[in-house]
Amino acid sequence: MNNRLYGNLIFELSRKGRKGYSLPKNRMGGYEIPSMMRRTTDAALPECDELTVVRHYTNLSLNNFGVDNGFYPLGSCTMKYNPKINEEMAALPSFLYLHPEQPTETVKGAEAVVTLLERSLCSLTGLAHFTFKPYAGAHGELTGLMTIDNYHRSHNDMGRKKVIVPDSAHGTNPASAAVCGLEVVEVKSMADGTVDVEDLKRIVSEQGTEISAMMMTNPNTLGLFEKSIPEIASLIHTCGGLMYYDGANLNPMLGTCRPGDMGFDVMHINLHKTFSTPHGGGGPGAGPVGVREGLQDFFPVVSPYHGNFSVMLRAYAYILTLGREHVKEVGSLATLNANYVKESLKDVYELPIDGLCCHEFVFDGLKDKSTGVTTMDVAKRLLDYGYHAPTIYFPLLFHESLMVEPTENESKETLDGFIAVMRRIAEEAKTTPDEVKSAPHLTPIGRVDDVLAAKHPIVTYQQLLHDKD
Ligand SMILES: *Cc1c(COP(=O)(O)O)cnc(C)c1O
Repeated sequence: MNNRLYGNLIFELSRKGRKGYSLPKNRMGGYEIPSMMRRTTDAALPECDELTVVRHYTNLSLNNFGVDNGFYPLGSCTMKYNPKINEEMAALPSFLYLHPEQPTETVKGAEAVVTLLERSLCSLTGLAHFTFKPYAGAHGELTGLMTIDNYHRSHNDMGRKKVIVPDSAHGTNPASAAVCGLEVVEVKSMADGTVDVEDLKRIVSEQGTEISAMMMTNPNTLGLFEKSIPEIASLIHTCGGLMYYDGANLNPMLGTCRPGDMGFDVMHINLHKTFSTPHGGGGPGAGPVGVREGLQDFFPVVSPYHGNFSVMLRAYAYILTLGREHVKEVGSLATLNANYVKESLKDVYELPIDGLCCHEFVFDGLKDKSTGVTTMDVAKRLLDYGYHAPTIYFPLLFHESLMVEPTENESKETLDGFIAVMRRIAEEAKTTPDEVKSAPHLTPIGRVDDVLAAKHPIVTYQQLLHDKD
């Protein structure tokens, strides 16, 4: 192992008495901190010289994997390239140093950004108003469901406490419904992966007066376009419910079609996914919620101010960069790339639902099941070849789910490189299966025992080496 990259903790590099700075003696006199308030022992901080600190953290950062240093086909997460102009805009001092409690007349520029972004999102989605308060997709779902709940209450329609969610839905959908105090009713998927309208008809006829909303993702979590939306929307509207659109993965829709035109009443957008904010580390995000005209009166207050403003700035910069003419290409290129990868691999990986996909697709492990090589093994082996793993074991519809979303930005050469490696791993599974099953071999840490890590996490560090000199 390369010790320079994967070496010690900063505490292990510490040497007693070593300093990274020197300050001039205080010749000015001044206030002495009262001795009763001063600590009697030194704080247990690492003692290092400046260059050691710089090298330590720079080398650590080189262990990071991101869109900027490799292909990142993590399905459902839309790890698209984040143009650097967005960062420049978000870092403009006139935005960066705004304080939320500043007088309104001093933040007119920021207000204009919010208004213009809202207008852009309305025209991209076909909805009439957005609230920018939610901090992420799941928060947006909760906000949207609370909006719908407020709407029903305003009509004195208190019995609507059920939300219909397809069995293919993202886990956040039922979770948000539960947090909102609603009961989840699961609607089945058909063999082709789309919502079973007959099962939905049964639910609506049995429980119609209790239905608050139906939550849908389109293209759904399998990357398939739900073709029966008009029929589904009419069923839900007729029984008095509203249609909620999980727009976390709006990417394939962008410039192609609009949830508002399909019959959805409320939706959220993950600005950090579709509108390019770096989100590999888990945040920050923004999950603005859009509604049909009239429903804006029912927005709940879920946070103060306008959510994560810097994410909104990045989104607006991204929209302006693409412009009306190029935003149209996002969805179709994302779809083309996903289908290209899928078609190039489906003879060696199991494709449970064949046909055209949208921005992503799901394999059910390797086609040849006799090798014993699992989706987990394939994902780990990909790391050895310098690729981020796809999403694995989600969605839950298949045992060996492996979900690939290439995004629109990738060149044909990059996709071909990924396809070649995936094929090579399929070959290795037959010829040298142990090599795949024990992967990764070239990462700082080999195969971890994820059950142990979850059951007995050790989250503190014993500072045995601190006083080494
Ligand atoms: C990512 C995602 C979410 C959740 O978004 P967060 O910002 O992670 O809370 C919800 N639904 C779908 C379909 C997603 O892909």
